[in-house]
Amino acid sequence: MAKIAFIGLGNMGGPMATNLVKAGHQVCVFDLSAQAVAQVVEQGASTKNSASECVKEAEFVISMLPAGKHVEAVYLAPDTGLINDITQGATVIDSSTIDAATSQKVAKALAEKGINFVDAPVSGGVGGALAGTLSFMVGGSDAEFNRVKPILENMGKNIFHAGEHGAGQIAKVCNNMLLSVLMVGTSEALQLGIANGLDPKVLSNIMSKSSGSNWTLDVYNPCPNVMDNVPSSNNYQGGFMVDLMAKDLGLAMDTAVNSQSSTPMGALARSLFAMHAAKGNGSKDFSSIFNLFNKEN
Ligand code: NAD
Repeated sequence: MAKIAFIGLGNMGGPMATNLVKAGHQVCVFDLSAQAVAQVVEQGASTKNSASECVKEAEFVISMLPAGKHVEAVYLAPDTGLINDITQGATVIDSSTIDAATSQKVAKALAEKGINFVDAPVSGGVGGALAGTLSFMVGGSDAEFNRVKPILENMGKNIFHAGEHGAGQIAKVCNNMLLSVLMVGTSEALQLGIANGLDPKVLSNIMSKSSGSNWTLDVYNPCPNVMDNVPSSNNYQGGFMVDLMAKDLGLAMDTAVNSQSSTPMGALARSLFAMHAAKGNGSKDFSSIFNLFNKEN
C-alpha cells in the first residue's frame, strides 16, 4: 500500500481521496476548506497543518484543483510551492482539468528535481468519482504511466495512456468539446420534435435506435422526464455544471488557436454555453442547454 498526499477535496477530490482510503492506502489530505478536510478524515484519512507537511513522506501526490493558476501556484510558487517539499523519486498526479501548457511547465520543473509527473484529468463526473468508475486520460512517459496505473485503478475503471506530458489534457478537451456539440444537437432535435407534436419519449426511443444515437440521448437525456435518475428529471441539479463545461470549452478554444485548428462546432457550442451561463444557469447541469431551444421561453 502506498503513502499518498491528496490536495483539493472538492466535489471530485473528496470522493476520490475516500476511495484511496477504502483501498487501504495511507492518505494524508489537505484543502483550504477545513470542512472538506474533515469529511475525508472521517473516512479514515489523516491530515496535517499544510500541504507541504502532507507531501513530505508521500510516494504519490495527487491534486484535484479548480484551474491552471491553482495547479501552478500549488507546485511552483516561489518559497511555498510543493516542489520544495516533495521527495525525489515521488510521482505527482494532477487530475485537475487545466491547459496542457501549464501541465507541461509543471512536469518540466518537477523533472529538474527528480520528481515524476503525469497529467491525469478525468471524465465521469461526481457520480463516477463516488462510484470509483472514472475514466483517466494520462499524459506522461511509459514508466510514469505504469507507475500510476495501479493507483488510478482505485478511483477509476478506464485508465488510458494518451501520450506524453499534456496529452491527457488535450484528450480531455477533445472529449468535452465533442460532448458539448452532441448535447446541443440532441437538445435542438428533441425541441424540434416537440414543437411539431412528437412525444419526446417516443422520439428519443426512435433516435437512439437510429443513426442519431449518441451518449447524451442514450444515457443523459436533456428533456425532463424522459429518463429517471438524470439531472434533467431533477430540475437540472447535480451532474456537470454549465460553468465547468464553459471552462472546458474555453480550454478547447485556446488549444485550437494554439494549433491553428478549425473547430467551428466547438466554437458555436462555447458561445451557446457562455450565453446560457450568462442568463443565470451556470450552476445547473449542462443538459439544461435544452431550455435554450424551447420555443415557449
Ligand atoms: P471544487 O471547486 O468542488 O473543488 C476544488 C477544491 O480545491 C476546493 O475544495 C478548494 O477549496 C480546493 N483548493 C483550491 N485551491 C487550493 C489550494 N491552494 N490548496 C488546497 N486546496 C485548494 O471542484 P471540482 O468539481 O472538485 O473539480 C476539480 C477539478 O476537476 C476541476 O479542474 C474540474 O474542471 C475537474 N472536473 C470536474 C468534474 C465535475 O463534474 N465536478 C468532472 C470532471 C473534471
